[in-house]
Amino acid sequence: MKAVILEKIGKYAVTDRPMPQIKESHDLLVRVDACSICGSDLHILSDPPGYPAKEGVILGHEMVGTVIKKGENAAGFQVGDRVVCDNNIPCGRCYFCRSGKANMCENVMCLGVDGDGFFAQYSRIPDFAAVKISEDLPLDIAIFAEPLNCVMSGLDKIRILPGETAVVIGAGPIGLYFAYLLKYNGAGKVIVAEQSETRRNFALEMGADMAVKPEEEQIIFDDTAGRGADVVIDTAGCCLPEAVRWVRSSGRILLFGQNFAAQQNLCQSYITRKELTIFGSYIGTYSWHDTVKFLETKPEVLKKMITHRLSLEEFQVGYEAMKNKTALEVILYPNRKGEFDESI
Ligand SMILES: [Zn+2]
Ligand SMILES: [Zn+2]
Repeated sequence: MKAVILEKIGKYAVTDRPMPQIKESHDLLVRVDACSICGSDLHILSDPPGYPAKEGVILGHEMVGTVIKKGENAAGFQVGDRVVCDNNIPCGRCYFCRSGKANMCENVMCLGVDGDGFFAQYSRIPDFAAVKISEDLPLDIAIFAEPLNCVMSGLDKIRILPGETAVVIGAGPIGLYFAYLLKYNGAGKVIVAEQSETRRNFALEMGADMAVKPEEEQIIFDDTAGRGADVVIDTAGCCLPEAVRWVRSSGRILLFGQNFAAQQNLCQSYITRKELTIFGSYIGTYSWHDTVKFLETKPEVLKKMITHRLSLEEFQVGYEAMKNKTALEVILYPNRKGEFDESI
């Protein structure tokens, strides 16, 4: 089968790989109907990597698939079921797994990072990582399940109250999901801070009330009687100094983006003086079913974010577009040929 692998640091390859086989009795063999390129894939492929992955691994961690074969003990699934997948496979045995913090698992296997992922025609996944979706949920909406699940877990921490003002730093896909869901959850005003004009316009389309350049920070204060926002969310992974400056005293900061190649300079006394609460949020925890339930309401607005529909072999086109920020959501169809329209 065709697959996109991490050949070595900073380099991918579109190549042939053997078909995966059922290994454990609870495995599902899945045909990948669609997969999408995430910002983390760019971090994995940069040199030095902003997010290290294992060489030789099949990349990709966001997908919608169809079960084509199941192990004898794979429970709750039938051949033909459509599924999305939690790509972080916890061990279930370590201190954190047994303390209800599976996202902190000490032995986690992350598909698309240290185990084979979804930029391929087929994939083997454990049944407990799969979540069934309905037959009529469009592929173009279901494909958002993985990143949206991570955002849902972040929202669970920040607990926005109706009327509150939130600043979202960065209008990449994650920033746009936050802007959309914060409004959906009743935020009074969502202000997105983003350098790119195209992305600022997208943020407005996704429901943000205002989209400003980071250097226009005065607008945030003017709009909040000089106090700063109730909540600031950093989706870029390097903007804690800005977040500390833009949040009001006693406000909340959610650090969501990750960039291990970036360093920040910060006087922590501002955090003390303002009595800030800072949450880290790493991947998704137990919000998969809620995420799928939300997607089953078919939020059409998400489709606006799809800028590219490509074959797996055209990975390079999507990758470059993500890198130069002309793309938001790049969908790859590993098992389809020809023109790619809106699809079920
Ligand atoms: Zn991702
Ligand atoms: Zn564990």
